[in-house]
Amino acid sequence: MGRIRVLDEQLANRIAAGEVVDRPASVLKELVENSLDAGARSIRVTAEAGGKRLLRVEDDGIGMDRDDAILCFERHATSKLRGLDDLEAITTLGFRGEALPAIASVSRLLLSTSEQDGPGTEVEIRAGKILSVREADRVRGTSVEVAGLFFNVPARRRFLRSDATELSHLLRVLTDFALAQPAVRFRLEHGGRALLDTGPAGDCGERIEQLFGTELARTLLPIRRDGASVKVRGFAGRPADAGTRRDRQHLFVNGRRVHDRTLLHAVSEAYRETVAAGRHPALFLFVEVDPAEVDVNVHPQKAEVRFRRAAEVHDVVREAVAAVLGTAAAVPDLADLRPAYAGAFRLPSGPAAAAALAALPAPELREPMPPRAEQTPGARPEVLAQLLDSYVIAQERDTLVVVDQHAAHERVLFERYLSQAEADGVEQQRLLVPVQLELAPAQAVLLEQEAGELARLGFVVAPFGPGAARIDAVPAVVAGAEVAGLVRDLLEEAASVRRVTTGVAELRRQLVTTAACRAAIKVRTPLPREAMQRLLDDLGRCRNPTTCPHGRPIAFRLPLADIERAFRRR
Ligand code: ADP
Ligand code: MG
Repeated sequence: MGRIRVLDEQLANRIAAGEVVDRPASVLKELVENSLDAGARSIRVTAEAGGKRLLRVEDDGIGMDRDDAILCFERHATSKLRGLDDLEAITTLGFRGEALPAIASVSRLLLSTSEQDGPGTEVEIRAGKILSVREADRVRGTSVEVAGLFFNVPARRRFLRSDATELSHLLRVLTDFALAQPAVRFRLEHGGRALLDTGPAGDCGERIEQLFGTELARTLLPIRRDGASVKVRGFAGRPADAGTRRDRQHLFVNGRRVHDRTLLHAVSEAYRETVAAGRHPALFLFVEVDPAEVDVNVHPQKAEVRFRRAAEVHDVVREAVAAVLGTAAAVPDLADLRPAYAGAFRLPSGPAAAAALAALPAPELREPMPPRAEQTPGARPEVLAQLLDSYVIAQERDTLVVVDQHAAHERVLFERYLSQAEADGVEQQRLLVPVQLELAPAQAVLLEQEAGELARLGFVVAPFGPGAARIDAVPAVVAGAEVAGLVRDLLEEAASVRRVTTGVAELRRQLVTTAACRAAIKVRTPLPREAMQRLLDDLGRCRNPTTCPHGRPIAFRLPLADIERAFRRR
């Protein structure tokens, strides 16, 4: 007798659930997609314990009749595809007919729906089995409540993270939908608190402002370009504002959030000349192509797509982004670069600003590090000049040394800050005028979690009304940096470190790296000779003066012998 059997429906659903649903955020994604496909104008999400205990999505869409309310839990039951032709050009977010049966198979689910205000249907399901179907009076629309996700799959349940981590994923998912659908109202309540609530916005720019605050929105550069079969819209962050986190790049194709290598590559190509490796500018990119030109059926969670004309899409996106980076608006003026500094003591603009910036390495003098034992006397590099306001040219005995001023300063700040943090003795600087910080909902949650660790690193940050916080003090080593952006970077950095490790030392190291990078003098900053000399002297006292904390080289040397060979003197 043969050994092959066809799996029963329930088992098949459970297996599909493994692909479609891996955490509360993926349930949320599927449910919100259904609401949007149903034409909802308002979507309300309620969650408890990061969505692990409860996740409810209520919409005001077209609803379902009694038959559909039952049928939608059958595998491959969908109203969105009729035949193969439809699959060639998908215009809805869903189409696989898998989500509801998959979610129902691993939870206790309650569906309540109606096609008009009045009589409706309520379906209760437990681990994929329908327990009851009732009539229920309700308003038009649909509500799906998922309780005890994975209650019957303990192995999966164990993989869920802390409430706060799962919540941050929920917020990320909802933020992306809110970006893609500015006209729709979104609300998320967690444990009785509204963490996100955005009324309908007129356009994407307004939505970005609602979600991320005016501070970010006002620096973004609008993108607009049409190719033969592709349209690109959105907003690009200025190169100077680039942070270390990649997840500020929100890419959408036909309203669907995607992770797409073609698009990511095009974007990094566009920024290549202006943004250092390892830093990522904020980006909101909306690509529209004919649905027949893109295959969305290549990933169970529909997170990846395949373009029929990938090369064209790539080039139009690259040109679209590169075009705005070439404009004057892409280059912030000096006063703009350091708003926090300006808050602490008024920063003059023009040449005086350059001088003020040049004075930045000064704090290092206060507390010289002990000289390294192996340092040979006479080997101290003497500054000769500055090349292109970016590289320090020095002479070390008979060797020419070229130093990347940003990398060098980064290394100096990193070692100083790390040793202070490890000794619990971070030198602080109170800000004369506290800096206001706008926080996206997910960031506000992060702040609650990480305030303690930030305090140990010298940042005094406290919530200050909804969606805002106040920075009262910062570590002296970063006193010159744009502290609002820095604190936001640190929060996001902390979240990503915590996803991979529980080690506090590792976390501290990462945060210190980010802070040092942000606070270090940038390239294209003129420095007076004394500041350059001080920088090289400080560098000479570092434990590792050869690479920056990200691993890039700090300096290269050209020995006299090589110079002589170049001139055929040898
Ligand atoms: P898909 O979205 O791929 O069609 P789902 O399992 O997510 O598959 O949903 C099955 C069907 O249930 C949908 O095609 C739709 O007809 C119906 N449905 C699901 N959620 C809603 C909702 N919020 N409002 C109206 N209809 C819905
Ligand atoms: Mg769906």
